[in-house]
Amino acid sequence: MNNTTQNNIQLNKTDIQTIVKAQRDFFDSDTSKDLSFRREQLLKLKRMMSDNEQAIIDALHKDLRKHEFEAYATEIGIVMVDIDKTLAKLNKWAKPRKVKTPPFHYVASSYIKPDPLGNVLIIAPWNYPVQLLIAPLVGAIAAGNTAIIKPSEMSVHTSALMAELINNTFDSQYIKVIEGGVEETQLLLEEKFDFIFFTGSTRVGQIVYQAAAKHLTPVALELGGKSPCIVDTDIHLDFTAKRIVWGKFVNVGQTCIAPDYLLVDHKIKDALIAKIKFYIHKFFGENPEDSDSMGRIINEHHFDRLVSYLNDGDIIEGGQHDRTKKYIAPTLIDNVNMDAGIMKDEIFGPILPIVAYGNLKEALDHINSGEKPLALYIFSKNNRKVERILNETSAGGVTVNDTLMHIANGALPFGGVGASGIGAYHGQHSFELFSHMKSVLHRSFLVEEPIRYAPYKLKRNWLKKIMDWAL
Ligand code: NAD
Repeated sequence: MNNTTQNNIQLNKTDIQTIVKAQRDFFDSDTSKDLSFRREQLLKLKRMMSDNEQAIIDALHKDLRKHEFEAYATEIGIVMVDIDKTLAKLNKWAKPRKVKTPPFHYVASSYIKPDPLGNVLIIAPWNYPVQLLIAPLVGAIAAGNTAIIKPSEMSVHTSALMAELINNTFDSQYIKVIEGGVEETQLLLEEKFDFIFFTGSTRVGQIVYQAAAKHLTPVALELGGKSPCIVDTDIHLDFTAKRIVWGKFVNVGQTCIAPDYLLVDHKIKDALIAKIKFYIHKFFGENPEDSDSMGRIINEHHFDRLVSYLNDGDIIEGGQHDRTKKYIAPTLIDNVNMDAGIMKDEIFGPILPIVAYGNLKEALDHINSGEKPLALYIFSKNNRKVERILNETSAGGVTVNDTLMHIANGALPFGGVGASGIGAYHGQHSFELFSHMKSVLHRSFLVEEPIRYAPYKLKRNWLKKIMDWAL
């Protein structure tokens, strides 16, 4: 594996151009467009994942100390389900979709034909280094594309393993993993692709968007940001606390849609904090450092960044940390300094600031004063309040009365809005994101309508009448 990693990392511009050219030629051969070919490749991908399940779990443990339960639920299982659903529906999704044809076009039929985009580039982050690499790949394969994939250099073990597995499973002219960091990604971005699917930070998303603009390459940008969690008084307190603790501390808070901070009605704040503390102890024990369900921060850089937030308010739970182990305890922060980093940056770690609001408008104003979030959480039994929040805020996705779970429904498009991203995927939405939905109007030679041709004898008001009726 080390050789593979080494070789990939040493790829230079010429090597990358050779791979891109080979993929372009392969795409032009039309092989990847064939539906039975796509199905075979999805089955290969599925086999690759199931045959190497333990190796993947081990790599995730080395990088992030993920428990095997979490590794299966949030990385392997979720993509296996996606592959199965895609296999079951692919024929239907790939069929041309008939649409109405106005009488003016008589005799004609109209349809939308999903076409592959061509050679796509997928760039992944480190926090869910399997799911966020494979889920877009499922869409790319299903839609009939070729793909170059760049995992994150931060999740070293998973990157090396996925490169080895994928490069041994597929021909490089069809799918190729290229490992590396900033330098390699920038070399890749100099090439012309037909689509770029990027998951990562807003800052790097801007770099990718600029590079894509040079070639007018369309992009999907799956970015991050601060995802607020509003808690009303009218709730099931126990379930609310449990679901917040789960959503915040799964993968040690290194989840793009983790509740970043709580906006709690001041009347329920103390009761909620007590319950959240209760569930932190119940899930991770009195000393979470000893819990095998508690992962670790990816690296020292992120550890130091997170530790700096501990001074941005009063620690009322947790706060313990150990740099040598990249461990930070599940931490609650009260009396938050609203101008400090903790309320400006995406936290992306196990630190949860709790901010009280006096009335809902205050909470909504706070949310609307920032960038549009990737996710928004609302805990309330009061449907009028839920409706109001949905109507008066904008967010990539919302879960009401739970956290994270909208990502686990493949029927819902997953993506951001505004600064939290462009484009959405999962299930059929992935297929469509990686396709060009080509419009086709197919006329016959049976009938000819003479009125559109010069010399224009028809009066304008006659033309208006005809167009009103026929278009
Ligand atoms: P990142 O932006 O630092 O890195 C993402 C990818 O970009 C990596 O493959 C990296 O090698 C590459 N990269 C980094 N710097 C680059 C540069 N200067 N030029 C070109 N490429 C570069 O993000 P990350 O730290 O890996 O992930 C964390 C971020 O990703 C968080 O903001 C999180 O919210 C976001 N995220 C979003 C989603 C989503 O689905 N919307 C999912 C996971 C993570």
